[in-house]
Amino acid sequence: MIASNNIENWVFDLDNTLYPASLGIIEQAREKVVVYMADLLKITHEESIHLYRELHKDYGSIMRGLKIKHNLQPKDLFETMRGLDLSHVLPDIKLHKALSKLKGRKIIFTNAPQLHAETMLEKLGILQHFDHIYDISAANYIPKPLPETYNNFLVKYNINPANSIMFEDVPMNLKPASDLGMMTVLVRNNPESFLPDCKKDYIDHIADDIAEWLHNTYME
Ligand SMILES: [Mg+2]
Repeated sequence: MIASNNIENWVFDLDNTLYPASLGIIEQAREKVVVYMADLLKITHEESIHLYRELHKDYGSIMRGLKIKHNLQPKDLFETMRGLDLSHVLPDIKLHKALSKLKGRKIIFTNAPQLHAETMLEKLGILQHFDHIYDISAANYIPKPLPETYNNFLVKYNINPANSIMFEDVPMNLKPASDLGMMTVLVRNNPESFLPDCKKDYIDHIADDIAEWLHNTYME
């Protein structure tokens, strides 16, 4: 375990890491993208659901999949995120308190677009804690867990992985971080987090509640 005062970079995934999967944001976003793709490609809703699964599995992000497989780069794809119903997303006081005690830079590393990240962080009442948001456009549409995006991330913010820690709900997204020497925490928040994968040696710690874990691990 790296001592709290030796951690210079706190790296957080956003969706289903800084808020619970039970809020259903990812499901809402997925449905918006499915409707968008059905319209764009003139396919049925069913076909679009199938395509979504295929692109996500093969390319890690829909934007990247559409670009490589269909030679499309629809800039307005992310506009669909504007229509999400976030009325049930409330400020997370516990997380706000935990984050405010951490010294060092706090950076969001997300496969989602900037606008969505800012909106969610604002709704959660924690936007002010973050120094940078490395979104999918900053990543040149190369999503986690492709190793090159982690390298670009480290270079862009001049991050030394040896004094950095990364929090994520998707186990495989922690492997490149661990390979580079970062400490990793799996936030067990979503069915994917419970795959046998989460016992892999690239996961240093498991947190069932990120605010509580930060508090218990670094505040006492
Ligand atoms: Mg996530």
